[in-house]
Amino acid sequence: MEECKKCLLRESAQEDVYELIKAKIEKLSEKEKSNYDLYSFRLSQCKNCENLISGVCMKCGCYIELRAAFKTQRCPLPYTDKKW
Ligand code: SF4
Repeated sequence: MEECKKCLLRESAQEDVYELIKAKIEKLSEKEKSNYDLYSFRLSQCKNCENLISGVCMKCGCYIELRAAFKTQRCPLPYTDKKW
């Protein structure tokens, strides 16, 4: 499979993995979960980040669609470079 720079998982060819991630996100409680605006903001930041490859952040190794769904998670870049 070709690597897609700047792609979210849901936009790549890894539909089976995306379905698993989606199911995990759906199981999060409202208390754990980012709201729609926060989630959208985070994904837009990742899409413009050089560390995103095929839905995975090269700094933390996470699928960013899952990481961003957790309200308390943060971008792993050093404090001054953090994008969210
Ligand atoms: S470094 Fe931060 S902004 Fe970049 S892909 Fe990872 S989580 Fe997203």
